[in-house]
Amino acid sequence: MHASTWEGLRWKHVRHPTDARIAKQGCLQVGYNICMRYYGNVIRPPSEARSYILQVTYGCSHNRCTFCGTYLDKPFRVRPVNEVFEDIAMAREEIPDLRRVFLADGDALVLSTQKLVAILDALNANFPKLERVGIYANARDLLRKSEQDLALLRSKGLGIVYIGLESGSDEVLLHVKKGVSATEMVQAVQRAKTAGIASSVIALLGIAGPEGSAEHAQATGKIVSRMDPEYLALLTLMLVPGTELYHQYSEGTFELMDAYAMLHELRLVLQNLEGLTHCVFRTNHASNYLPLAGTLPQDKERLISAIDGALQEGPAVFRPESWRRL
Ligand code: SF4
Repeated sequence: MHASTWEGLRWKHVRHPTDARIAKQGCLQVGYNICMRYYGNVIRPPSEARSYILQVTYGCSHNRCTFCGTYLDKPFRVRPVNEVFEDIAMAREEIPDLRRVFLADGDALVLSTQKLVAILDALNANFPKLERVGIYANARDLLRKSEQDLALLRSKGLGIVYIGLESGSDEVLLHVKKGVSATEMVQAVQRAKTAGIASSVIALLGIAGPEGSAEHAQATGKIVSRMDPEYLALLTLMLVPGTELYHQYSEGTFELMDAYAMLHELRLVLQNLEGLTHCVFRTNHASNYLPLAGTLPQDKERLISAIDGALQEGPAVFRPESWRRL
């Protein structure tokens, strides 16, 4: 551990695999690591596992979702840009061939376009082989930016935004305090699409409990259909101590669904996905009971059959409860 020079925050130096270093070593099996300074736990989408994680904000500017404990102990702050530039300089020493960067933390797109442009310019100046920069975004972050702002960010390498839809049901979104409506989520994805930025949408199985499950699944399928995103990932709810939802569960006002019910819900989401152009679909997150991968629309029936097969076979083919992770 090394102390940060900024306001007493402590960051840790973590070793992290990256595409660039692996490619450089010519070995795809062994993960080589680079050093990153990171404050708090490293949070990034599974598909950014080999990206360099560059922390440009701390925490999440919203930080109110009832199910989310990710940043409960990390108040939102904008990281001083000089520290971000220092990290970029350090990374350049170790991985000059870097190809992918992920900007953390929770909704880093909340940064002003001016700051993001400065960071993207520094990345492009230091990493000539840079191919893509990814970022977590709130729908409101996207809608706050003009089409011109997003087009500018796209021209500087911002290639993908990860958006937590959670549910297509406004009732569920309100209940979990997401802070945005399903329609705003659709508008946000459309705005990214207009700018040429790909969207990876994340929804959450089990978030409506057993009573709301069918409505949640149908609404989620329908809203994702309107979004027509490039990527869709489904995660499965896990209760996190300290969150409001955990408290509701302890009080008996929220009920958790079992693996069977989660898979029925997943099936219903898939059934309601219509008219997608080309969507990479994954349930490979460690929270899920059944890892699935395919491309929609062409793999829809195969994926539904795989769920039916798993439901018939039962727990022997489900990820064991003790293996599930956030
Ligand atoms: S789910 Fe996303 S928006 Fe909600 S509090 Fe967690 S990081 Fe923030």
